[in-house]
Amino acid sequence: MSYSPWQRSVLDNALAALTEGRLAHALLLVGPAHMGKTAVADVLAQRLLCSAPTTDNLACGRCRSCTLYAAGTNGDIQRVTLEPNEKGDKLRTEITVDQIRRLGQWFSLTPQLGGAQVAVIAPADAMNVAASNALLKTLEEPSANRFLLIVTSRPGRLPATIRSRCQRLEFRIPARSDARAWLVTQGFKDADIDSALDAARGQPGLAAEWLGQGGLSLRREVITELNAVGTGKLSPIELAQRWLGDEQGELRLRFAADLALDAASRRVGAAPAERGGLTVPADFPKLSAWFDAINRTREQLKAPIRNDLVLAGLLREWRTMFP
Ligand SMILES: [Zn+2]
Repeated sequence: MSYSPWQRSVLDNALAALTEGRLAHALLLVGPAHMGKTAVADVLAQRLLCSAPTTDNLACGRCRSCTLYAAGTNGDIQRVTLEPNEKGDKLRTEITVDQIRRLGQWFSLTPQLGGAQVAVIAPADAMNVAASNALLKTLEEPSANRFLLIVTSRPGRLPATIRSRCQRLEFRIPARSDARAWLVTQGFKDADIDSALDAARGQPGLAAEWLGQGGLSLRREVITELNAVGTGKLSPIELAQRWLGDEQGELRLRFAADLALDAASRRVGAAPAERGGLTVPADFPKLSAWFDAINRTREQLKAPIRNDLVLAGLLREWRTMFP
């Protein structure tokens, strides 16, 4: 695979630590979403399992372990992630204690190829409390050649007792110029890159996703629609139904939250500010409260309730901030 510069730097640090014998059993791969953390965890896992690493310290790709790894049948790696629910029509929203207990039992087995055992937990912040407690037990009993790669973009949701037992591998948002240069190499049009990076707060992976999937035009739509609600040209309930009409509701709310936060953080004087085309209300305390309300709504929309009413309520609040 080809790595982005920020993936390369994390991988280099981990491999250097491995060479020097200071790579911990438990690693916390942490950084914003869409930076390729899980991909780096996979590369690292393959390297830890490889029986004949190359001179530049990567997996050889030829030994028995690497061959099985490539075929997806290497029994010495376990991936713990969100599993399908009982009906099998959706993913669960949590990593369960049973999954972590099974992982603990698996770690107590002898490695099939006589080398290392590696587990990747992603997204680790999806572990519920019981699962976290079970993981803590595993962390308290480290054994040789057993590695646990814990991947999260929300480290704050993991108990401090877990975080403190891990070596941290941090993915950092690159400098703007590096992010731009990388997006150009990914084949994106120069003209769109800056607005995508603005919208993604400098996260190149996220900007790439939006550039590739029409996220930028969706964001422009959100701006137009919020402006229309603000001026009373569009009713909150109508917009709520429109936003819930396809699978993009969560992304729209995310853009709305982002725009509100951006506006609230750019408070200059009391005059209504224009930012990125969104007409922003003058009442900043209300705007901040609205930002909190969006995030509550995003949580609520995950539960099966009358979604359109919740969302319409949120948009009605937006309307009240304008004369
Ligand atoms: Zn190998």
